[in-house]
Amino acid sequence: QLSVPDHPIIPFIEGDGIGADVTPAMRRVVDAAVKKAWGGKRQIAWMEVYAGEKATRVYGDDVWLPDETLAAVRDHVVSIKGPLTTPVGGGMRSLNVALRQTLDLYVCERPVRWFNGVPSPVRHPEHVDMVIFRENAEDIYAGIEWQAGSADADRLIRYLREEMGVGNIRFPEQCGIGIKPVSEAGSKRLVRKAIRYALDHNRRSVTLVHKGNIMKFTEGAFKQWGYEVAREEFGAEPLDGGPWLSLAHPDGGEPIVIKDMIADAMMQEALLHPRDFDVVATLNLNGDYLSDALAAQVGGIGIAPGANRGDSIAMFEATHGTAPKIAGTNSANPGSLILSATMMLEYMGWGEAATLLTDAMEATIAGGEVTGDFHQVMDNATLLGTTEFAEAVVRRLE
Ligand code: ATP
Ligand code: MG
Repeated sequence: QLSVPDHPIIPFIEGDGIGADVTPAMRRVVDAAVKKAWGGKRQIAWMEVYAGEKATRVYGDDVWLPDETLAAVRDHVVSIKGPLTTPVGGGMRSLNVALRQTLDLYVCERPVRWFNGVPSPVRHPEHVDMVIFRENAEDIYAGIEWQAGSADADRLIRYLREEMGVGNIRFPEQCGIGIKPVSEAGSKRLVRKAIRYALDHNRRSVTLVHKGNIMKFTEGAFKQWGYEVAREEFGAEPLDGGPWLSLAHPDGGEPIVIKDMIADAMMQEALLHPRDFDVVATLNLNGDYLSDALAAQVGGIGIAPGANRGDSIAMFEATHGTAPKIAGTNSANPGSLILSATMMLEYMGWGEAATLLTDAMEATIAGGEVTGDFHQVMDNATLLGTTEFAEAVVRRLE
């Protein structure tokens, strides 16, 4: 358990684009919720640190991810960030990926639950309540790939043909190649976090989502290693003799079912029968698709929160991008970052403030006070700007 002082320093990265709209709104409502919960006894000391475009304005042209930012995020353990612009050229694929890899934030945790009043395309949105644990450091996202026609790609193709005997696949000329590394240690630490979470939060099941039928030694191995962690480290027992496992709750509650599902089937089942799923553990690419698809069920990325976690460091973040088209117009939905902040408060052990804030935001939306993204698909709602939405949440807190 994290030990947090009454006046913790929390580094925040405002973020680019709509980051400048949603981050102040998030801080405003978090401060109000903490004040409501504890008067002046507890208060966050916000510390601005820089990354992305804003960092280049403060530190100079080529500094997208200053060392001071990394140091602050490491030292203070808990931090929160808005969306970032990635430099074009310069060799960096994504600033977000760079941050996750540098700090070894190997879990991307994405809760998906429906909030009363939020417009949803599914028939029973009230049944949607899942938490996705997406592996964040490996898989095809490791960034090991070669362009078609490059000397390295050609060399690799020749090697595969001549040294490795990969004769059954005809590599055409001009073939791009990507590598998908999936390790035992990387898979196990992710599944460990998911099972731990299920135990701590009284969840009913953990589903290992994979494409093991096609990719045996990466996706299939992930499934095997996942079951292995459940059996060997948590003492799960076979369920009805099948591959699924049953994990007894230490405090006598309903046992947790550890199961698996092929990723494409999961996409369908999670949309048709959301009630059958609870905690989900999966590799990087599957997790990327699944998180956004499920977020759409409950109102989209404007309200879907997320956290990137390592063994000690946790960085909470908006799951959407910088949305340059609406940046600076005070119209973005701050919901994603606000709910990420409630995850942060929970993580800090400040659950009372998290609950107050979540309830106030839910009541605001249910009362029909919403930003443009929701307003356009709702009847009889009142359109609010980013700042006004935050103020409406604060009013419900006071
Ligand atoms: P980036 O390249 O940084 O991802 P983007 O334009 O793709 O930028 P996204 O955040 O991925 O931005 O947004 C995709 C779409 O969703 C955009 O049309 C954007 O307007 C909308 N959107 C994203 N976040 C929000 C938000 N918080 N509130 C309202 N609309 C949003
Ligand atoms: Mg985008």
